Amino acid sequence: MKDEAQGAIRAVGLRATRQRVALLAALLASPKPVSAEALAKRLDGELDLTTAYRALAELTQADLADRIVLPEGPALYEAMRPHHHHLVCRLCGRLEDVSMCLPSTLTSQVLAKSDFASVEDHSLEFFGLCMKCAKKR
Ligand SMILES: [Zn+2]
Ligand SMILES: [Zn+2]
Ligand SMILES: [Zn+2]
Repeated sequence: MKDEAQGAIRAVGLRATRQRVALLAALLASPKPVSAEALAKRLDGELDLTTAYRALAELTQADLADRIVLPEGPALYEAMRPHHHHLVCRLCGRLEDVSMCLPSTLTSQVLAKSDFASVEDHSLEFFGLCMKCAKKR
């Protein structure tokens, strides 16, 4: 994982600092999105929370990581995989990947009615109840 992380960071023109490599390797190794706190804890001793937040912001900026903002609790981070969205359970926080995307006509319609020259990216999460939580109601 460390080699993969190091290569990915260099490929986008960032310096492969020890902290960035450790964080990205941890994200690549994680099957689920994780909070900055959990990452800092997992990398105990390698970096503190402030450094983790700064390095995660840099990785997100460089499109190596995704930042998922939830209605409650801390933002979660995941390694950039193919572009995708999320279904999030409002009660238990269960998170599911959604591989479908917005129709491209929506982007052109949004753009046509705006003062923007281009749309480069978007984020989209769906909030609701997972099956388990829906049954408990
Ligand atoms: Zn749920
Ligand atoms: Zn995801
Ligand atoms: Zn999309």
